[in-house]
Amino acid sequence: MTRLLFLFFSLQAFHFLKSSPAREFRLSWPTPNPSFAQGLGYSTFLQKTGPDKAFSSGAFGCVRNNGYKFHEGVDLFPVKRHKSGQAKDQVFSAIAGIITYVNHNAGHSAYGKYIVMEHPNVVPSIYTLYAHLAEIFPTIKIGVKMSEAMPLGRMGNSSSFKIPLIRSHLHFEIGLRLTNQFQAWFDKKGFKTSNRHGNYSGFNLVGIDPLHFFSEYRKKTFLQPLDYLNSLPVILKVRVKSKKPTDFAQRYPSLCPNFNASASSWDCSFGPFGIPVRIEPSLQSKLSSSTFKILSYDLRGSSKPCRKLVEKTSSGYEISEQMQSYLEMIFRI
Ligand SMILES: [Zn+2]
Repeated sequence: MTRLLFLFFSLQAFHFLKSSPAREFRLSWPTPNPSFAQGLGYSTFLQKTGPDKAFSSGAFGCVRNNGYKFHEGVDLFPVKRHKSGQAKDQVFSAIAGIITYVNHNAGHSAYGKYIVMEHPNVVPSIYTLYAHLAEIFPTIKIGVKMSEAMPLGRMGNSSSFKIPLIRSHLHFEIGLRLTNQFQAWFDKKGFKTSNRHGNYSGFNLVGIDPLHFFSEYRKKTFLQPLDYLNSLPVILKVRVKSKKPTDFAQRYPSLCPNFNASASSWDCSFGPFGIPVRIEPSLQSKLSSSTFKILSYDLRGSSKPCRKLVEKTSSGYEISEQMQSYLEMIFRI
């Protein structure tokens, strides 16, 4: 009887695990190319930036302009083309979620025609982005819910800058969105250009390395992206003075577990290339005058020349302009 009861409860537990959306994180490769899944190398799926460039120029990180320019995602080439040279490959949703942004005007963004999805059943509700599309399928509209591995459009070379047809590819990103009030930050900065993409401007999106994320998913090292984010090294910890509530904490409560709306300073941890991994009210004394204080910095963050989180000055280290922008957006400073 005891054994039967045990079996019963085990089956119930199994059923619970199966039916809980937070337990069912599924990730699917966004193109028809099977090479990455087969464990093959960069040359079998990454689009390089020119005939003489390394295939790693299509990877994530400091891979452009001798390492000085950051690439926020991966570039995946097509496996089938029409006689005209146009890519035939469809592009698929990597994770079940909702279409939150669609840009049909190729000339309005370096991303060209692009789609952003957000994934509310995922912890935290990360975004995925699909760029340089030749075609966005007519059913793909803001608010439409998608399962994973559903067709979104066709791969292409659309962009506000020239991408030759031969280098058609999908630019694919995974990451976190900093603010719901991007326009307010943008207006304050006084940029000469206009923001045509609301909260889905690339400035407001911070990516993680998609290939590393897929590799770790296939090795089953995490159940939810939160575990993955927690496994990344903390490169920078910074204390921020701000009394304004942050919508980042509301959208990603798992990254801000002890959120307290009345806090006046916050300790924020950032992973490689500035991905925010934890924000908590500061338990220490309040900051006196300055808005930011570096609490710790891992020198591994300086080993690459691009997307630095801090800059060395004559008196020590201070946060980089990029990091300051991130903090301004998160805390509406
Ligand atoms: Zn790209």
